[in-house]
Amino acid sequence: VKDYQSKGIMTFMVGDVIEQCAEGGVKMGLELRVIPLGHDVTSVIHVVTVAIRAALIFGNVQPGNLAALLDYTKNRVPAFVNTFGAIDSVVVSAGAGAIALGFPVVVDIDLGENQVPGALESVCDHAETVKKSLELRNIKIKVKELPIPVAFAAAFEGEIIRKADMKVEFWSAKNTTCELVLMKNMDEVEDHKLVIDGPDIDSGDLEYALATCVYVAGKKMQADFESVIERKIHAWFNYMEGVMHTGQRNQVRIRVSNAAYDAGLRLKDFAEVLYVMIMDEFDAVVDKCQITLITDAAEAEKFRDEVAMPRYNQRDDRLASMTDEAVDRYFTCIMCQSFAPAHCCVVTPERLGLCGAVSWLDAKATKELDPAGPCQPILKEGCTDEKLGRYASVDEAVNKYSHGALEHVTLYSLFQDPMTSCGCFECICGVEPVSMGVVITCREHAGMTPLGMTFSEMASMTGGGVQTPGFMGHGKHFIASHKFIAAEGGPGRIVWLPKILKDQMRERLDKTALEMYGVENFTDMIADETICTEDPEQLLNFLSEVGHPVLSMEPFDM
Ligand code: SF4
Ligand code: ZN
Repeated sequence: VKDYQSKGIMTFMVGDVIEQCAEGGVKMGLELRVIPLGHDVTSVIHVVTVAIRAALIFGNVQPGNLAALLDYTKNRVPAFVNTFGAIDSVVVSAGAGAIALGFPVVVDIDLGENQVPGALESVCDHAETVKKSLELRNIKIKVKELPIPVAFAAAFEGEIIRKADMKVEFWSAKNTTCELVLMKNMDEVEDHKLVIDGPDIDSGDLEYALATCVYVAGKKMQADFESVIERKIHAWFNYMEGVMHTGQRNQVRIRVSNAAYDAGLRLKDFAEVLYVMIMDEFDAVVDKCQITLITDAAEAEKFRDEVAMPRYNQRDDRLASMTDEAVDRYFTCIMCQSFAPAHCCVVTPERLGLCGAVSWLDAKATKELDPAGPCQPILKEGCTDEKLGRYASVDEAVNKYSHGALEHVTLYSLFQDPMTSCGCFECICGVEPVSMGVVITCREHAGMTPLGMTFSEMASMTGGGVQTPGFMGHGKHFIASHKFIAAEGGPGRIVWLPKILKDQMRERLDKTALEMYGVENFTDMIADETICTEDPEQLLNFLSEVGHPVLSMEPFDM
């Protein structure tokens, strides 16, 4: 189980293995990718459900289409089964089910000539179980051997470190923190020079300042890639077992657990992790990398105020000036095709990928890092309708990258050939016919919306790379863009948002609404779950009360 965990593989456990893991000190839970399902063999159905739902949601397989379902699970759900100990008739039946779905079964008893190569195989030496299982699904994992005293794997990203388990903390609310990746000239960077400026975490204090300064240089490096690399610091620090990281820039909180400290984890390991990961993931643009971690309070503050803050501000100015009009190309992203085979995102400066994780800058960097990879440029050519955001070159690209599944996609419309959704969108919007507005909900909000549907019910209307006019998945930040459903009137159409999303978007949404409609405090005019959940009339009353701009817009041209 630990071996699978360190390889980033999600492990579902059924039976006595759960107790064995608990006794062995394996930490469990969804966020750690080790999930106990139950003691009875039949509880395996919970994980089968996940595989089948993946086919229905991401693969757009229609319920009842068994052939398409089995094809999807076999080719796109890279699962396999390990059994330990004697197998009875129930286990055999469950195993046969797994094999039918295309999931090979590895047993630890000798089946002799009853083995079915590729589907049912005996591996009696447990040291070989993991290797054989991965081979059967052709899963190749690049394991990074880092010279640090704790484990390093994506599976630890969700680990929470509570105060009682905490050795030291770096937290912006108490001490200076900042993280900056800065591009330098080749002769200004000494490769693999790691410096700790100030006390290390074994000096006896519980709280420290921390300025993480990463200097990179490379012939193909661009200033635009600084923030792309910088954002990964969050993940990399989290991957260390016993380290928790939240935030970014000058708002950071890092905790180190007692266990990690006792294992010998110190600041030089943090620096080493950054160095190894940057040179591994960004080797196409970074030739040299030097890292300084400043814990000296005065030095950290000086670095934050004199170097980091001005750089963040410069980047923000650049981002603000980066409109769809200001660039000559957009990018495709087909990263989600491994599970949503017909899906293609079109990423523009003002419309980030619907997962929220791929901005135009990220896409541009991805193209540089992996020239034949998932992000390919779409030159802005052949605009036939500016308002809809309709381009011949966009149509051509989505047609090509969706393998013919899509012919037309517009950038700014909810009704006319809207962009497709793979299924991993941060938000989903849908038309509210009474007010002629749109309702948006997000993954974090499990509750009802005035459309009479929850996030997951709305999500099941789209996904799988199909176009569903009137419903569309999108990233959070798209909401506050001038281009959000611009063809239908823009963000002024938004009539309902969950409170949590309102709070996240308020500042930018208010600014956009002021610029577009001359309306102050627009976010306050939008209803949320504290104002109404199910009744469209109640929603309409609220909108009239506050004088919401949607009331003076034309009805939708549906
Ligand atoms: Fe790429 Fe995100 Fe779109 Fe997936 S959802 S294709 S990762 S931009
Ligand atoms: Zn996706």
